[in-house]
Amino acid sequence: MNRFSWMQAKTLSEAASAASTTVAHAMTVAPEAMEHGETAVVKANGIDLLDLVKEGLLKPSTIVSLAGIPGLDEIVEEQGGGVRIGPMVTLAALAENPIVRERYPALASALRGSASPQIRNVATLGGNLLQRPRCWYFRSEAYHCLRKGGGHCFAISGENQYHAIFNNMPCAIVHPSTAATVLVALDAAIEITNATGTKRQLRLEDFFVLPDRDLQRENDLQPQEIVTAIRLPKLPSTLRTAHLKQGEKDSFDWPLADVAITLDVGADGACKSAAIILGAAAPAPHRAKAAEAMLVGRRIDQDTAARAAQAALAGATPLSKNAYKLPLFETLVRRAILQAIA
Ligand SMILES: Cc1cc2nc3c(=O)[nH]c(=O)nc-3n(C[C@H](O)[C@H](O)[C@H](O)COP(=O)(O)OP(=O)(O)OC[C@H]3O[C@@H](n4cnc5c(N)ncnc54)[C@H](O)[C@@H]3O)c2cc1C
Ligand code: SF4
Repeated sequence: MNRFSWMQAKTLSEAASAASTTVAHAMTVAPEAMEHGETAVVKANGIDLLDLVKEGLLKPSTIVSLAGIPGLDEIVEEQGGGVRIGPMVTLAALAENPIVRERYPALASALRGSASPQIRNVATLGGNLLQRPRCWYFRSEAYHCLRKGGGHCFAISGENQYHAIFNNMPCAIVHPSTAATVLVALDAAIEITNATGTKRQLRLEDFFVLPDRDLQRENDLQPQEIVTAIRLPKLPSTLRTAHLKQGEKDSFDWPLADVAITLDVGADGACKSAAIILGAAAPAPHRAKAAEAMLVGRRIDQDTAARAAQAALAGATPLSKNAYKLPLFETLVRRAILQAIA
C-alpha cells in the first residue's frame, strides 16, 4: 500500500473542493505513474476504495473522508411523498427503515439480499452505487486492461462466466450494484453537488455510462463532485414491485443475475406501465424494453409473463462462457412478474 494523506472533511464544499479526481479517472493512469501527481479521492466507509488501494490498483495522494459531514446519513420524507436518502446511509439502515420497508419493499428485499450482515452495516448506498466492477482481470494488478487504460480486454477471449450478456463490447463488465437494479426500476434520481454548492440532478438510469460512451468509467461523476442524495419518487398505490436474485451461494455474494420489476396494473387488470431491469447482465442496469412493451396494455397471466421473459433476452450477445445466463434471466423475469402480480 502506498502512503497517502488523510483529510477528514467537515463540510460538503471542503470535501468537493479537495476531491481533485474520481477513482475511475485515477485508475486509468499507468500503475507506475500513479504515485506521482495529485490524486485526492473521496471515501465513504471504504470497503471498495480500500480494497483497490490494498490491491495496488489505486494509489491516491489523499483520501478525503465524508464520514464527518453532517446530514449525509439521513433518510427524509419529502413533500409530495417521495423519500430522500443520504449517500452515507448504510445498506443495513436503509433495509430496516420503516418507510422503505413499507413503501419500497423490493428495495428493502434487494438490500437484505446484498453482501453479508457485517458488510451491510458498513457499506453505504453512495459507495454501493459507485463501487467499481468485479471483473477479475480488472481487480488484478497483473492485467492492465482497457478499462484501466490498457490496450486489451482479457475477459472477452478469456474467463467471462460472470460477465455481461448485453452491451458487452469492447468491455464486458457487469454493473456490480444490486441496489442500482431496483433503484432504476423505481425511477430514482441522483443528486450531485459540486465544490461551489451547485447541484445537478439526473435520473439514476442516465447516471450510468456504457462502454460505447466511455470505457473507463461506469458513471457520470466528475472531479470535485459529491453524490448528496438518492431520491425515490412517490409510487402510485397501484404499483406492484418485485426483486429476485440468483447467486452462486445463498450466504453472500454479488448476484449472477438479478431482476427488478415494477408493474402498474389498472382496475381492469390491464398493465398500464412496466419497468423490467436486469442486474449483472450489462455494464449498467439493463432495461428490457421489448419485455416491457410485451406487458403494457395486456392482462398479465402465466402466458404473458412467459412471453415477456423470452422477450427480455432480445439483443443478448452472450460470450463463450456465460450463455447459462440466458435461461437464468428468463426464469427470473417470469417469476418476478408473477410474484409482482400475486
Ligand atoms: C464480500 C462482499 C460481498 C458484496 N456483495 C455485494 C452484493 O451482493 N451487492 C452489491 O451491490 N454490493 C456488494 N458488495 C459491495 C459493497 O456493497 C460495496 O463495496 C459498498 O457498498 C461500498 O460502500 P462504501 O461506503 O464502503 O464505499 P467506499 O468504498 O468508501 O466508496 C466506493 C466508491 O464510491 C465513491 N463514493 C462513495 N461515496 C461517494 C459520494 N457520496 N460521492 C462521490 N463518490 C462517492 C468512492 O470514491 C469510491 O470510488 C459486496 C462487498 C463485499 C466485500
Ligand atoms: S471486461 Fe472490462 S474490466 Fe474486464 S478485462 Fe475486459 S476491459 Fe477489463
